[in-house]
Amino acid sequence: MSSVSSVLSTFVPLSTSSTCRASGSAPDHHRVLIVGGGTAGITTAARLCRAGVTGVAVVEPAATHWYQPLWTLVGGGRAPLSLTHRPEASVMPRGARWIREAATAVDPEARTVTTTGGVHRYDFLVMATGLQLDWGEVPGLDTAVGHGAVSSNYSHEHAPHTWELIRGLRSGTAVFTQPAGPVKCGGAPQKIAYLAADHWRRQGVLDRIRVVLVLPADSMFGVPVWRRALERVADRYGIEVRLNSEMTSVDGAARRLTVADRAAGTAESLAFDLLHAVPPQSAPDWVRRGPLADPASPYGYVEADPYTLRHPRHRNVFALGDVANLPTSKTGAAVRRQAPVVVANLLAGMKGERGDRRYDGYTSCPLVTARDRVLLAEFDYGGRPAPSIPLVDTTKERRDMWLLKRYGLPALYWHGMLKGFV
Ligand SMILES: Cc1cc2nc3c(=O)[nH]c(=O)nc-3n(C[C@H](O)[C@H](O)[C@H](O)COP(=O)(O)OP(=O)(O)OC[C@H]3O[C@@H](n4cnc5c(N)ncnc54)[C@H](O)[C@@H]3O)c2cc1C
Repeated sequence: MSSVSSVLSTFVPLSTSSTCRASGSAPDHHRVLIVGGGTAGITTAARLCRAGVTGVAVVEPAATHWYQPLWTLVGGGRAPLSLTHRPEASVMPRGARWIREAATAVDPEARTVTTTGGVHRYDFLVMATGLQLDWGEVPGLDTAVGHGAVSSNYSHEHAPHTWELIRGLRSGTAVFTQPAGPVKCGGAPQKIAYLAADHWRRQGVLDRIRVVLVLPADSMFGVPVWRRALERVADRYGIEVRLNSEMTSVDGAARRLTVADRAAGTAESLAFDLLHAVPPQSAPDWVRRGPLADPASPYGYVEADPYTLRHPRHRNVFALGDVANLPTSKTGAAVRRQAPVVVANLLAGMKGERGDRRYDGYTSCPLVTARDRVLLAEFDYGGRPAPSIPLVDTTKERRDMWLLKRYGLPALYWHGMLKGFV
């Protein structure tokens, strides 16, 4: 393992410029290499640029940047898909170098990242690759999703199909599933069930539809105050909630799935007319197999100190966003609080200082409970409520929080967060 001083001795002092500029070093050598140009990568790059850091590069193969939190509303018929994406070039901070390649390996001892285009050296590395969707982990799901009666808001390709299915259903059985293990926005598998049930209620057909919500945990939500609120919401719509349960296989053509009840040790075959499935999720394979993965994470997420977000064995490596193995819910709201911590500690490292800025585990999930109502759950590492909006009781379903989710947060994202302002 490199000592802190040997790592830091190679760094030159900070520039005071307000935008990123080429560092003047060899083209494959970057002062800060960010792997992933999604929510976490671009937010971090923008903040570094605003701090005047030179030699920032972002490895990102995709031409399109996505705002995923609105996919729930696309699937619920409350927002168009067109509002959820912009060209990656338009969000890349001016002056940051965009390496339009996919990373395939990292060597933290040699301080290199191998990509589809070559090898890149770095002084500091920020891992922000997001996670991968393991559709193949549930037999039948990868071929069923996006066709017939099966959809998922977890992919922009399929989210519009969810709404087609919801508005086309007048009777029958609708099943909404969540897999075991950490997923992006742990509330999203439930939100679409409430949006659908509210639509069917307004259409006068809810009493002809059996709605089944399959959840892996032993309660509907980890934090008691919102758990109780969600239990009331599920009751209101007459939703049959299956706790400790998982979908273990699906046959899209036959419209049947198997639900295993882990507590009872039983399995049941269910016929469905609509299935919204959330796939199992894990770190990208190359990360999972690589040297930065947390040995304690069965999903291969990157090891990081939960407070400083620094890798415990490689002090010039940081991780944030969905790929980081942090004991909090994986959300864009969490990234909003993590990025300033990574940047502050990275800047301190550049000056040869320890960098003790701490992330408190803040995360937030706007739980959409109806077409115009949201329960805003905000909490930290202890599962302690951590409200950020003064004088507003976010333990109640509210229309103003719906307006925040539908209009306020997307604007904050594109114009504030991705620019490094908030
Ligand atoms: C349906 C849904 C609903 C959600 N709802 C909410 C919500 O209400 N509120 C909320 O705060 N969050 C929500 N989220 C979660 C939020 O979108 C994520 O937590 C957030 O996008 C994580 O940011 P990230 O940068 O870690 O990952 P991403 O934004 O996914 O970005 C990862 C980037 O890494 C790139 N990448 C992948 N592999 C490589 C590679 N090998 N080399 C280089 N680059 C690579 C990808 O192309 C991508 O651009 C939701 C997500 C979904 C799917």
